Amino acid sequence: MKILTHSGESVGAESIGKKGSWQRQMKLAVRDFAALRKMLDLPDNLTAGTAEASFALFAPLPFVRRIEPGNPRDPLLLQLLPSPLEDVSPTHFSADPLAESDATLGAGVLKKYAGRALFIVTGACAIHCRYCFRRHFPYQENSLIGKGWGDAIAAIKADDSIEEIIFSGGDPLTILDQPLRSLIDRIQEIPHVRRLRIHTRLPIMIPARVTDDLVAMLQNTNLEVVLVIHANHANEIDQAVAGAIIKLTTTGAMLLNQSVLLAGVNDNAVALIELSKRLLAIGVLPYYLHQLDQVTGTSHFEVPIARGVELIETMRAALPGFAVPRYVQEIPERLNKTVLA
Ligand code: SF4
Repeated sequence: MKILTHSGESVGAESIGKKGSWQRQMKLAVRDFAALRKMLDLPDNLTAGTAEASFALFAPLPFVRRIEPGNPRDPLLLQLLPSPLEDVSPTHFSADPLAESDATLGAGVLKKYAGRALFIVTGACAIHCRYCFRRHFPYQENSLIGKGWGDAIAAIKADDSIEEIIFSGGDPLTILDQPLRSLIDRIQEIPHVRRLRIHTRLPIMIPARVTDDLVAMLQNTNLEVVLVIHANHANEIDQAVAGAIIKLTTTGAMLLNQSVLLAGVNDNAVALIELSKRLLAIGVLPYYLHQLDQVTGTSHFEVPIARGVELIETMRAALPGFAVPRYVQEIPERLNKTVLA
């Protein structure tokens, strides 16, 4: 079995395994535009333009089933549907707007902020989000999967200012539980590392990924664990997702959500307020609402910052303070994210 990474290369069985229902869902993900159009009863004149060639369609069925059939403006559909609008890119949009290539400590490890190091565990994801800030990232040279963990572990051991390791990607939970456990075991042996943060969309995309083994692994590590999930709209959280997230709360991990402010998807107060309420109901704190990173091919998702600020103000009037995410923007070379509201 092979799955596609962002850059189009395939990843083999060592990354995804052969058994288990979440792996089966990865295998069954929709990769063909015409098939998706038919499955969701979308208009025949809906086309992808050249977008599919640069960033393939990849949509897992549990997520596709939450999309309203016949609605080409569905907020979940827009997140995964290749569009001819991706061909239109203003010149200030670029392949690496966050200058991540300058933050590389070594193959697969980035150090952007003090005290933290980010592992690009893999380039594989359970969905290809059209607005992805790493859609042009050179995963082939810069991800850890398939290279062993040795160099990354050595880089962390050599820098005792690093207290927190962030698993990112791609989606780190696309790797199997066994290699994930071996990576966590290696990290928890490093005396100066206290915290592990995992950024993942998998519990939202394929809730079956929250296996008993994963839960036990997170329960048993002596690292403090922070899980950052990524939902942009309340419709992403159905009963199966809620069940998976509630299972994760039993690990004792801190559960946070980050969203991206996306035109047509969640750029209205009703959608954002409902998302916060739904997250709180399953034990997740709405943490960040990101301003879109200006990545080539994504400009049709951009919402003006003034509008974002207005939306946060409306949320503040409607929700308790802890239910309002921080509206932030990542600006290269700044020592932390910039809080916009
Ligand atoms: S899951 Fe994250 S890394 Fe993967 S495509 Fe979506 S935004 Fe990008």
